[in-house]
Amino acid sequence: MWSRLREVFARELVVLVDPTNPQHARRRKQLTASVGAIFTLGMAAAMGVAPRSAFDDPLAPRTQQALRMPDVREQLEQLTDSQAVYVREERMQRGDTIASLLKRLGVDDADAQAFIVKNPTARGLFNLNPGQAVQAEIDESNTLVSLQANLGGDAAASRELVIERVRAASDNTAATYKAKVQRVDNDVHYEMASGAISAGGFFKAMDAANVPDEVVQQMLSIFSGVIDFHHDIASGDRFRIIYEAGFRDGTFVRNGRVVALELINRNQLHQALWFAPEDSKDGGAYYTFDGRSMKRPFLRSPVEFSRVSSGFGGREHPLHHDWAQHKGVDFAAPTGTKVLATGDGVVEFVGQQNGYGNIVILNHANGYSTYYAHLSGFAGMRQGQPVRQGQLIGYVGSTGWATGPHLHYEFRFNDVPQNPLTITLMESPTLTGKSRQEFLTYTSGLLSRINALRTYNVLTASN
Ligand SMILES: [Zn+2]
Repeated sequence: MWSRLREVFARELVVLVDPTNPQHARRRKQLTASVGAIFTLGMAAAMGVAPRSAFDDPLAPRTQQALRMPDVREQLEQLTDSQAVYVREERMQRGDTIASLLKRLGVDDADAQAFIVKNPTARGLFNLNPGQAVQAEIDESNTLVSLQANLGGDAAASRELVIERVRAASDNTAATYKAKVQRVDNDVHYEMASGAISAGGFFKAMDAANVPDEVVQQMLSIFSGVIDFHHDIASGDRFRIIYEAGFRDGTFVRNGRVVALELINRNQLHQALWFAPEDSKDGGAYYTFDGRSMKRPFLRSPVEFSRVSSGFGGREHPLHHDWAQHKGVDFAAPTGTKVLATGDGVVEFVGQQNGYGNIVILNHANGYSTYYAHLSGFAGMRQGQPVRQGQLIGYVGSTGWATGPHLHYEFRFNDVPQNPLTITLMESPTLTGKSRQEFLTYTSGLLSRINALRTYNVLTASN
């Protein structure tokens, strides 16, 4: 199982999307469309529609069909036989009240208005931003039958507010309504991007491969425990990413989570998969293909890697002098670059010290401590304050004995300085028992997806 999965991911996909191939960009688009089609067709098959044609001709244009019918339309179909019902759509405007919105929708219904104002769920309408759509269904006397609005969501799903009339008004009773927020699945496409790092640097390579910024940020975060992007990334490194993108009724909603990721950094292969064990409290995490967590007790770099800081000094050669006498490592970066806590801990000291200038010292579990010196400013740190790994603690500067802007970083064990660039990475937990079984099931599902891509490759190769 492991060898097969690894092999498919590490070799077949390299062949499939070869960054050195000039056809690469075009192929990526085809692949994306094809994967979308396969999953959409999978859903269509589940609904009893034979999904033959798109497979017969791999070059046939793929179109995404909206699978979801709005609730109001279904109700409309049921209701048109018995009575006249109208559907209206309006967009929220700045300064709208429930009364003004209902008026524009053509609703003249005091009972409905009173319900929406009072009901906590229905009041979700007040949170809509200008420009967001609201659909209403009204009968021939302009009373409300139902109302629907999209409250937002993530790549996987949208949250929809639905207000429905349960019972019509009669001579002596008011109409009754109910409100609910329901989760409506988006169509999730799996986008794939790949490329190679060239002399232009990391971000240029990401742009060339059309990797969206929010996906790049995830990539940096996923590998933050194992790679120092400032110093480790080298020309010739290669990457592949598969990430989710949510579509609703054929319209792009937003990019989602990276589901699988690979980076070949200086000939060393790093791979990560998203996986959420059922008993996990925080939802999920990234694991290597053999079920080892990607999270480490300490980040590889205390300096945020960004478009601005990426090209600043010493990318290939960190300024670490003779660290044994220097006691730390210097990270060159522009003044103001974000400095991040490399591990969970507590603020031991924040303030000024001779030579160090503005400095933050953090205490971590098991006798470790970290020093961040020459800061231009602090991110509101107080002594005794708990901090999380990756939390902003201050900004790069040149206070104290510093000839130019850089972060002086020390990593100590029982107060003895260690070289953070060469300490062995602490072992991370491995999935066991039930979680491991779930992980195996999940990766086997992923293998099917990758196999679907491989099938497509065979088809294109024959053209
Ligand atoms: Zn230094």
